[in-house]
Amino acid sequence: MSSIKAAMQTTPTESPDSSPGVAPAAVTAQAVTASPIESPPTESTVAESTAAESTAAQSTAAEAASSAGLRPARTVGDKLAVLADAAKYDASCASSGLKRGGKKGALGHSDGVGICHSYTPDGRCVSLFKVLLTNYCIYDCQFCVNRASSDTRRARFRPQEIVNLFIDFYRRNYVEGLFLSSGIVQSPDYTMEQLIDVARRLRLDHNFNGYIHLKAVPGASRELIELAGRWADRLSANIELPTQQDLDQLAPEKQLQTIETTMGQIHEKRQQARYERRQSRRAPRFAPAGQSTQMVVGATDTNDAKILSTAAQLFGDYGLKRIYYSAFSPIPFGDARLPSQPPPLVREHRLYQADWLMRFYGFRADELVDDRRPWLDLDLDPKTIWALENRDFFPVDVNRASRAALLRVPGIGVRSAKRLLAVRRWHRLTTADLRKIGIVFKRALPFIVTADRNPEVFTLDAFDLRVRLMGGGRQLNLFEANAPASGRGFPMPEPVPDPTLEPISRPRPATPAAPATVGLSDRSSITGEL
Ligand code: SF4
Repeated sequence: MSSIKAAMQTTPTESPDSSPGVAPAAVTAQAVTASPIESPPTESTVAESTAAESTAAQSTAAEAASSAGLRPARTVGDKLAVLADAAKYDASCASSGLKRGGKKGALGHSDGVGICHSYTPDGRCVSLFKVLLTNYCIYDCQFCVNRASSDTRRARFRPQEIVNLFIDFYRRNYVEGLFLSSGIVQSPDYTMEQLIDVARRLRLDHNFNGYIHLKAVPGASRELIELAGRWADRLSANIELPTQQDLDQLAPEKQLQTIETTMGQIHEKRQQARYERRQSRRAPRFAPAGQSTQMVVGATDTNDAKILSTAAQLFGDYGLKRIYYSAFSPIPFGDARLPSQPPPLVREHRLYQADWLMRFYGFRADELVDDRRPWLDLDLDPKTIWALENRDFFPVDVNRASRAALLRVPGIGVRSAKRLLAVRRWHRLTTADLRKIGIVFKRALPFIVTADRNPEVFTLDAFDLRVRLMGGGRQLNLFEANAPASGRGFPMPEPVPDPTLEPISRPRPATPAAPATVGLSDRSSITGEL
């Protein structure tokens, strides 16, 4: 397949418009940057561009696909079927956190609660018009179904086709925003230009004022990244894998440094735009919903400790709004180095929980996982595991503890901690009050003291507290049906007995008879309270 990639960079020849290729001379980064942004390309320009976007590689790829019985999609309906399906592997599509109010004469808005989402059973967002510009790609990332060597069916939209489809869907109330990603055709700059072209047409030609999320192609020029942030609400440069070693193994064309450079450019420009808007409200906004990234989990044997330390570094260095952890999905005829089984989706869930703890609960990555315990526990959430390993921190008095201490208690989330702090100013909290406040009651009880008697606190040092918190067995998870009992796609080391789980020999009142079970509800999964 290296021959295909090499051929893709050769001189264009005539080919169908649905194929990728070399950018016409008229549509270079310099041309886009230099041309007035208020003058989008005309239809004739697009037609010329499209006619010129063919390469010898397209013929090669088309022949290969054709010989495999997979002809490139030609009609808009076919392209939509191929490219909407290909986009489902990109998880970074949430749009929360954005306020873009309605404007007179403008189409759409995204205010207050942001865009309404619906989710597929595996948790992915479907309410945005989520699609790829093309699934042709010159890169050969082994974990990706769109890699150059894949014999998947290919398709490519023209920018205007995406615009027409989106506006059509929007007017029918099918979708409220756009999530547009793409395989890399010809070069990062060329691909970025095409993505920008869609956003620019929506904003200028259709006065669209709703949510747009664009993929920021790592390695694209700074000028193009700045243009993208002008039209899009959110940008995402995908890191794909957590370490350079992983990239070398499965995506050798990608460099962590290049990806981080793009993230850094977005971050810098966002800071600059924020400063300028403080000086003048008329200053243009830049990617107001921030930037995000996606990490594929389980394609290599990199452990959760490394994943979370990379995540912490990205949050700190580039001010990311979100990192999306996407469990690796085995692909047909994939590379032999890839695991044949997907990691349990509960691992993805635990990574999200740990990520949440780092961003909103004041935990450091090394408090949740470290070299001694490099994998997140699949049976209990990371906050409960931390509490079990740090029992000397408890019990916490809910009537006196600081907010930071309350947030360390399993079952007390950010919202319930806020309510606790508000109520205790005029009332001493009892266990009955905690139920009303909405903490995950049974999980919190062994770790807190209240104004009245809380017998559960006597189980804090019990040998079997972990089992009790698991409800006598395994904690239920959202993905129980598909998740193997253990393993993360790769063989896992045997668990090492943990001395910190031994009981603490502190003088305590005699432990009363244990309740029959201290089962956990799945409430935290629903409310987001950990
Ligand atoms: S660059 Fe993106 S689309 Fe192309 S093979 Fe890699 S992950 Fe897939």
